[in-house]
Amino acid sequence: MPILKDFKFHSPGSLNAALALLEKARAPLLLAGGTFALNYLKKVSKYPTDVISLKKISSLKGIKAQGKGLWVGAMTAIYELIGSRAVCDAFPSVIEASSKLGTTPIRNMATIGGNIASRFYWVDLPAVLISLGASVTLATKKGKKTVALEKFLSVPPEKKYILTGIVLPKGNSLSFYFRHTKTAQETDVPSLGLAFSAVKKGRVISCARCIVNTTSSFPVALKKVEDVFNNFSSGDIRMDMIEKALLEDARATKLDDHRLHLLAVDLEKLLGILRQKCV
Ligand SMILES: Cc1cc2nc3c(=O)[nH]c(=O)nc-3n(C[C@H](O)[C@H](O)[C@H](O)COP(=O)(O)OP(=O)(O)OC[C@H]3O[C@@H](n4cnc5c(N)ncnc54)[C@H](O)[C@@H]3O)c2cc1C
Repeated sequence: MPILKDFKFHSPGSLNAALALLEKARAPLLLAGGTFALNYLKKVSKYPTDVISLKKISSLKGIKAQGKGLWVGAMTAIYELIGSRAVCDAFPSVIEASSKLGTTPIRNMATIGGNIASRFYWVDLPAVLISLGASVTLATKKGKKTVALEKFLSVPPEKKYILTGIVLPKGNSLSFYFRHTKTAQETDVPSLGLAFSAVKKGRVISCARCIVNTTSSFPVALKKVEDVFNNFSSGDIRMDMIEKALLEDARATKLDDHRLHLLAVDLEKLLGILRQKCV
C-alpha cells in the first residue's frame, strides 16, 4: 500500500503559467516551502491531483522598497526575512517573530506566503504583520488585487488564488512581539503571542495596535488596550488601567485565564519598555 497517491507535479516558471495550471487542475495543491503542504499529501482525505510548486517563479521572491515601505515576495523564506537589513531597520517585530519561528531547518524552508496562506490559527507572522498594517497582493484568473491582511483573514479565501506578496507600509517607530510556546511533537510552537506597533513622536504615542495571536482563532485586536496606549502622552498610564481594558477586550477573545495572565505580564513588560523609550 503506497503512502502517497499519484499526482502530477508541476514547476512553472511564471505566475501566469502557475495560474493556468491552478485553473485547470481538479484538486490542486500549491507548494511553497512545503513545511505544511507535504503533510497534506500524506494526511488529507482529499488528495491533490496536481501539486504546483511556486519555487521557480522569480516574481514571487525578494524584498524591495515600495513607496515608503517594503514589498516582500510570498516565496521569501523566513531566514531571508531575518537576514534583511531593510526589514530589521523598519520592522523589528518581524525579525523578533521570524527568528523564534520553528527550528533552523524550518526557517530555511518555510516562506512568509505559506505562513499566511496556510490559515493556521497558531502561526506567528499574521498577528505581527496585522499590527504593522500589512496588506497582501493576490493573483487569480480574474486579475490582481491588494487586500488588508486583517480583512483577508476575516473571510474565507477564494478557491483558486496565489498570494504573490506582502506590502508593509512605512515602518512605525515602535514594534515588538512577545511570544509564549508549548511543546508539541517535540518542537516548540506558539501558544500565545502579542504584537504591538505604534508611532512615537517625542513622548507622544499614536496609532497603537495590539494584536493577539490567540492560537485558537485568527489574530484579534485589543481595542480598549490600544486606546489606553494612545493616551500614553496625556499622563502616566498605570497597569491597573491596562488590566481593566484587557478584561473588557477579553470578552471578544477566546483566551483562558492562564493566557490572559500571560498577556497581562507581557503588557506590563511593554509598559516598562514604553516608559523607558518615552522619557
Ligand atoms: C516542526 C515545525 C515547527 C513549526 N513551528 C512554527 C512556529 O514556531 N511558528 C510558525 O509560525 N509556524 C511554524 N511552523 C509552521 C510552518 O513552518 C510555517 O507556517 C511556514 O511558514 C509555512 O510555509 P511554507 O512555505 O512551508 O508553506 P507550505 O507548506 O508550502 O504551504 C502551506 C499552505 O499554504 C498554501 N500556500 C503556500 N504558499 C502559497 C501562496 N503563495 N499562495 C497561495 N497559497 C499558498 C499551500 O498550498 C498550503 O496549503 C512549524 C512547522 C513545523 C513542521
